[in-house]
Amino acid sequence: MTSPTRVLVLNSGSSSVKYQLLDMRDSSRLAVGLVERIGEQTSRLEHTCATSGETREQTGPIADHDAALKAVAEELSRDGVGLDSPELAAIGHRVVHGGMFFTEPTVIDEAVLTEIERLIPVAPLHNPANLTGIRTATALRPDLPQVAVFDTAFHTTMPESAARYAIDPKLADRHRIRRYGFHGTSHAYVSRRTARLLGKDPSEVNVIVLHLGNGASASAVAKGRCVDTSMGLTPLEGLVMGTRSGDLDPAVIFHLARVGGMSMDEIDSLLNKRSGLFGLCGDNDMREIRRRIDEGDDEAALAFDIYIHRLKKYIGAYFAVLGRVDAVAFTAGVGENAAPVREAAVAGLEPLGLAVDGGLNAVRGGGPRLISPPSARVAVAVVPTDEELEIATQTYELVGKKS
Ligand code: ADP
Repeated sequence: MTSPTRVLVLNSGSSSVKYQLLDMRDSSRLAVGLVERIGEQTSRLEHTCATSGETREQTGPIADHDAALKAVAEELSRDGVGLDSPELAAIGHRVVHGGMFFTEPTVIDEAVLTEIERLIPVAPLHNPANLTGIRTATALRPDLPQVAVFDTAFHTTMPESAARYAIDPKLADRHRIRRYGFHGTSHAYVSRRTARLLGKDPSEVNVIVLHLGNGASASAVAKGRCVDTSMGLTPLEGLVMGTRSGDLDPAVIFHLARVGGMSMDEIDSLLNKRSGLFGLCGDNDMREIRRRIDEGDDEAALAFDIYIHRLKKYIGAYFAVLGRVDAVAFTAGVGENAAPVREAAVAGLEPLGLAVDGGLNAVRGGGPRLISPPSARVAVAVVPTDEELEIATQTYELVGKKS
């Protein structure tokens, strides 16, 4: 029998599961879908069979992750690509926090589960949901390798000078306080894909990756290794995001508590869920913000300016960290689609060798592409991220090595 070539990728959130089934012979999608609002009366499953293009939708209560995954398994079976298929090689799980312990994709066993559990205090929202997904999938196919691919792993190469906060190291170590960084799977994929776009090996180039989605982060990648990133202990640090503030003076928190009378939970929720673009202007979708700016809305224009100012600061900082930059790559929802963001982020940075060509920047859609003029010293690129493909690739490589 030939070796199995399919990988199911699961991204389990607290009330949702996103999934993709890929065939690693050609990295093609066989099925794509999501279950959302798990545990509510109005749960919804949307499943697309990628080969036929048919999309099916179910609504109605799905009680928990176990029921969600069983419903996904049924949908996959209807397409003839069920979880019981001998062609399934492994299940790859996105796990948000791997701390300093997990530097690579890892086949999951009891010891790995215990370590992911021990990291819950630094990832209280994400790791419990990821664990539930792993346990549920393992119960469905106990014989199959389950692989964890960590959002933090790509950043574990950061030097201590970038990873440490300027606080007592003993205190920091006791509470595992350091800069971990997130979106690592995307930064890894996009930095490598950018090197390929330049016709180079990742070990030959220095790249600044700007992952601008609803969550947003920047990274400085030197010769294929991450040397700095903008998110820290949690995804709150760094760029202005859809609903997160990003960087602020920590004293703002004391001030909100002492003078504003807010509780720690209220401040946590304010900075993570009601700040950023949303906090500034009431919208976190860049399309809506651009529409409002076009209509002359000053509040939206200021939110945009603050977003761009922070982005530019990180671009400048990572030039200083890297010394030489070969490319700046834009990715994720905003980075891939919002030409005005790319134009504004680079405007005025010509002395650093950065420029975008208006015509190339305006082109919509498509795969990885350069948007800088051919004469530019630094390439500026749009490189669509593909975290599921990266998780599947890492999972398949690991399982292939073991078998
Ligand atoms: P996440 O995975 O962090 O939820 P995505 O990478 O899918 O986010 O990005 C979502 C964001 O992308 C949306 O909030 C929206 O602001 C932005 N976006 C999507 N399409 C466009 C577009 N055509 N123009 C501008 N922004 C867009």
